[in-house]
Amino acid sequence: AKERGKSNFQFYTPDMNASALERLRLEYSLHKALAQDELEVWYQPKVELATGRLVGAEALIRWRHPELGLVSPARFIPIAEDSSLIVPIGEWVMKTACRQVREWRERQLFGGRVAVNVSGRQLKFAGVVELVERTLEECGLPSAALELEITESVAMDEDSGMVEVLHRLHELGVYLSIDDFGTGYSSLSYLKRLPVQGLKIDQSFVADLHQNRDDAAITQAIISIARSLGLGLVAEGVELDEQRRYLVEQGCDTGQGYLFSRPLPAAEFEALLERQYLA
Ligand code: C2E
Ligand code: CA
Ligand code: CA
Ligand code: CA
Repeated sequence: AKERGKSNFQFYTPDMNASALERLRLEYSLHKALAQDELEVWYQPKVELATGRLVGAEALIRWRHPELGLVSPARFIPIAEDSSLIVPIGEWVMKTACRQVREWRERQLFGGRVAVNVSGRQLKFAGVVELVERTLEECGLPSAALELEITESVAMDEDSGMVEVLHRLHELGVYLSIDDFGTGYSSLSYLKRLPVQGLKIDQSFVADLHQNRDDAAITQAIISIARSLGLGLVAEGVELDEQRRYLVEQGCDTGQGYLFSRPLPAAEFEALLERQYLA
């Protein structure tokens, strides 16, 4: 800046200015992104690890910014969460994914569930249960075809009425799973009280499980927790055949990751659906 004004007050330090400014700029353009059709929903297959058969999909948001190109959700979802924009954005993702999957089901291309990521802020939003109910109705999708992935720390947040919300979603017939499992501060007894049907092993454990004893041990422990509580299990971030084989041997049936496919735009995912087997 050429001038700093009369006071010596500094709004930002050289350290923070780049990221703080970028954040502000992104927040500002994120407001327009929804209206201007810059958001997209991509799909990553979930597969049966032993066979490579496609059994489900995770919906992942993408932002095609006019100047910045594709912006990662890791960059803009936290901004959306801080600004409440996550509520309309989350609603849009859910509707888009439900509509898309209804269409694939009608054409008998896909019989699995679609998983949508839901952040804490979205779940705390007063009308979230009604929103899910209305979305399923409007899109003509049976509730059992929708999965909501909730991160561990959110699901464990006892004070927020979260357990009550999860119970109401469960009553709707939606499948609930805990995302990034193993990275939060879960107490296992708490897990028993939550109406969740599945766990997702965080990709940080999967990444090195074929060469790191601790990661292998944690993965084994998560597999046995899931088994003893009767929960479904998906391993994330499966990139190598060694990881796939290890997971199958240990009893984890389902996974997703670059070994099978990256997340894909709807049209490309549809082409995969015609193949069924990705191994
Ligand atoms: P997540 O839910 O844990 O999603 C998994 C991330 O891992 C995705 O990144 C996916 O593209 C990536 N991934 C999949 N397979 C592999 C693999 O084999 N190796 C590696 N290294 N990565 C893999 P993405 O799409 O960039 O999303 C990042 C995070 O942003 C998500 O993490 C989720 O927390 C959040 N997110 C994405 N879409 C949405 C959304 O619609 N709503 C909300 N609330 N959050 C979203
Ligand atoms: Ca997820
Ligand atoms: Ca995850
Ligand atoms: Ca994650």
